[in-house]
Amino acid sequence: MNIFELTLLIGFIWVGYVCGKMLGAYLGVAGWIVGFVLGCALAVGVYTIFLRLIDLWYRWRPIRPICKEGKCSSDDYQLLELSKGNVVFRCRCGAKYIKTRHRFGELLDDGSVRPYMKRTWSLGRWEEDRGESVGE
Ligand SMILES: [Zn+2]
Repeated sequence: MNIFELTLLIGFIWVGYVCGKMLGAYLGVAGWIVGFVLGCALAVGVYTIFLRLIDLWYRWRPIRPICKEGKCSSDDYQLLELSKGNVVFRCRCGAKYIKTRHRFGELLDDGSVRPYMKRTWSLGRWEEDRGESVGE
């Protein structure tokens, strides 16, 4: 168990304690027990929903777009190089891509970049890059 998991466990128990204390004030020991169990379940449920929402967000707006071959998703890229605002990735198909703040371009063997995908605003989704300015 790492420190994050330990903190989560303490948080779940704390919510159970608070709920148990509230219900225990009205129903005695039975209220304590029921309140503790319900409080822990509530905390786990809220945390699970929170994780699910984050997952949905990244499915809707992945960090990296699907590769040009249409085979690799955001998690399939391998980090190759990290330098001053640029990140170079390689997908499982072997193509290299360079990611800047708003763009995801194909890095060709001669070092040039072929526009591939872009985001027109920070929270936007990936869309086809035709090479026009996106305010970088
Ligand atoms: Zn690929």
